[in-house]
Amino acid sequence: MAPQKNTSRPGSPALWVGIFTALTCILGCALLIAVAAPDDGRHTARREAMVRSQIAARGVKDPATLRAMRAVQRHRFIPEGRLDDAYDDRPLPIGYGQTISQPYIVAAMTESIRPRPEHRVLEIGTGSGYQAAILAEIVANVYTIEIIPELGGTARDRLRNLGYKNVEVRIADGYDGWPEQSPFDAIVVTAAAEYIPPPLLKQLKEGGRMIIPVGAPFFTQMLMLVEKKGGQITTRQLMPVMFVPFRRSP
Ligand code: SAH
Repeated sequence: MAPQKNTSRPGSPALWVGIFTALTCILGCALLIAVAAPDDGRHTARREAMVRSQIAARGVKDPATLRAMRAVQRHRFIPEGRLDDAYDDRPLPIGYGQTISQPYIVAAMTESIRPRPEHRVLEIGTGSGYQAAILAEIVANVYTIEIIPELGGTARDRLRNLGYKNVEVRIADGYDGWPEQSPFDAIVVTAAAEYIPPPLLKQLKEGGRMIIPVGAPFFTQMLMLVEKKGGQITTRQLMPVMFVPFRRSP
């Protein structure tokens, strides 16, 4: 038998079979990637709409904050049964009576501390880990404390699986802050306290900023921006909010 030549003339059936096979492979691979990718187009489109209509439209301008809100896959922080609501304009339950904050509030709080790439930031109230991930997209190190062990453990695993290497989660009462890692350029408190915990003020760097909802639990609280300048503390009221209560360990 004559040896087969591995060449195809233009227009020959072998060439068309080759092209067809290659195209099928490419299409198949693309489909596989689309199905397997955790952030499918549906979520990406919703996230884009969320940033445009809920966040930028309400006045959040900081490019780093907007970039982070576009980058973090919020649906990865939401319980399975509520995935369709992941990009809605409201807080959502995450179990244990706690909530993941409304996207706009996360963005406004992030912008308010003026996060910079070299910053070390403390968060009190890890919850789902979403706010920590937003901060981790912008700053060098995020230290986050959660008082409910199950939530803290889940958030730690989730953040690790998503590849965040610059976030440390501690299970503790955040009232005492994280003295070993202090001082912090900024502190973000995501549970409503009746007053600003003095240890947190102490652990704020000179020139640093803290954002914290202050007020009675289960009522409307005031989001306060705290600044430490020349050893003096100044506070400014930003907007009324409703957060879950800041608890104390027994
Ligand atoms: N930042 C979270 C939302 C937080 S909800 C997110 O992005 O999903 C508030 C969280 O604060 C709850 O998980 C609650 O358990 C936690 N919390 C309340 N009091 C606390 C305290 N004293 N120390 C640490 N965490 C606390």
